[in-house]
Amino acid sequence: MSRNPKNGASLICVCCHHASAEAVLADKELRRVAGRERFLVELRLDLLQDLTDAALDRLLDRFAGQALVTCRHPAEGGGRADLSDEQRVHWLCRAAARGTERGPAAIDFELRSRSLLPKLRESVSALRADQRPAVVVSFHDFQRVPDNLETVRREAEEAGADIVKIAVSPRDTADGLPLLKLVTTPGRRPLIGLAMGECGSWSRFLAPRFSAPWTYARLEGTCGTAPGQPSWRELEELYRFFEQRPTWPVYGVLGNPIAHSLSPLFHNTALRECRLPGVYLPFRINGDPVVFIQSFADALNLRGLSVTIPHKERVLAACDGHSPAVSAIGAANTLTRNATGSWSAENTDADAATDALEEKLGGPDSLRGKTILLLGAGGAGKALGFGLTQRGAKLLIANRTRSRAQEVADAVGGTVFGFEELPKAFAGINVSAVVNTTPLGMHPKVEASPLSAEQIPAGAVVFDTIYNPLRTKLLNLAQERGCPTLDGTAMFVGQGLKQFELWTGQRPSSKRMAELIREALARRAE
Ligand code: NAP
Repeated sequence: MSRNPKNGASLICVCCHHASAEAVLADKELRRVAGRERFLVELRLDLLQDLTDAALDRLLDRFAGQALVTCRHPAEGGGRADLSDEQRVHWLCRAAARGTERGPAAIDFELRSRSLLPKLRESVSALRADQRPAVVVSFHDFQRVPDNLETVRREAEEAGADIVKIAVSPRDTADGLPLLKLVTTPGRRPLIGLAMGECGSWSRFLAPRFSAPWTYARLEGTCGTAPGQPSWRELEELYRFFEQRPTWPVYGVLGNPIAHSLSPLFHNTALRECRLPGVYLPFRINGDPVVFIQSFADALNLRGLSVTIPHKERVLAACDGHSPAVSAIGAANTLTRNATGSWSAENTDADAATDALEEKLGGPDSLRGKTILLLGAGGAGKALGFGLTQRGAKLLIANRTRSRAQEVADAVGGTVFGFEELPKAFAGINVSAVVNTTPLGMHPKVEASPLSAEQIPAGAVVFDTIYNPLRTKLLNLAQERGCPTLDGTAMFVGQGLKQFELWTGQRPSSKRMAELIREALARRAE
């Protein structure tokens, strides 16, 4: 495979934040990835406070043939306000004049500095055509997505770009639509279109789909040089960057917040283990998820979506069909796109959680006739209420807002209590299990618990649907009282497996997927 960015296959360009040339040269991770095919290294000269001609030469010796040399203008995110245009152009020309064998594969020049481009051309005039680094003409908007992107592209092409780079800043994922249109419309030159920030991660993960010459990635454990940059390892291993094909289906999760979702890890691993084409992305949706679905579905070939807080109810407006569980619960966590392009809604939380509890209580039919104390009456509470009563359980429902608990009771049956009435409310009743569906105890408020130790019914199985952290305060209190406990992993894995099966017809090993999620959560807790 080639590192020549003019050759077609998308590359990963690794960026670093170091403030000195010595630190760049000493970075072992950078050296390791730089030695690999299909990787470029961006040398951001404007971030190096100690740069001299000699230091630049040493950097180019080290990364010969695979460097992208950039000296960003201060008005486009450059790190040094003290650099004159003359100094910037001097370094870029010095680098370019070495040719691609001894110097950079590409040089980045802002569109705003186009009047200086003839100097760059002059510096490579003595080189053979195949030795000249590719010229990237770049444009950045750190505030918004301007509506003249076609004009910007044309201007960059006319300025003499071999590659055009356009980076913009959507406030919501749906705001990136003009960029999506741009990257899916062929131009005269290859294009790297980037939507910066969490609302634009699709533009980075799917760069090969849009035939971008490369996308930018950060080193592991660093924050990168632009908001929203994924790490090179994530791109390569989880998002299968080098394997992606334009025909691959795209799946994803809609939510806000979404950065810490484990669903991309879960589904991308499942796709890889089942040897299926496809990639699964996090979509941060600040606004209306229906707008996003309607505007992105065709261009991205969206086939399936997971839905999480706060969009589980609103997404129903984008769907033509609802399963009985969705109709009863009024919320969906899974959308599937049919061959005709319409969407159907399912709720896999209900079955997954009920399966997990049923297994813990003794297997099939073990819920029948049992009394379950359900804490919370939001989306998860309603799903559990539906799932549990479908299998014959009786509910005691406690919720902060009593009217919402009453809604669940009206829909599926059950007796409503306020938290303050516990444990009196179940005196004399044999409660088989407690299910927490409130976020009390979830990271970062790990000291919270919906029940005190005395409010936990003796001998009941205590099931906390929270999985971050795995051991919540409620589960610790339950264990101290000698109650069997169940954390939220089985529910998370179960709902994900059911989604995956709906979309692909396949089912990866549940044991393997549970291990994956437990390991990821344990790493986060370190
Ligand atoms: P939701 O629709 O926002 O409902 C939240 C529920 O928690 C409501 O009943 C709310 O009571 C109650 N609540 C919130 N803050 C509270 C507080 N400070 N004190 C007392 N009650 C409070 O959210 P959801 O979709 O049901 O999700 C709730 C939790 O379920 C999540 O945090 C997550 O941990 C868990 N979950 C787990 C999985 C899994 O796969 N394991 C899947 C889905 C959800 P009010 O009605 O009074 O507002």
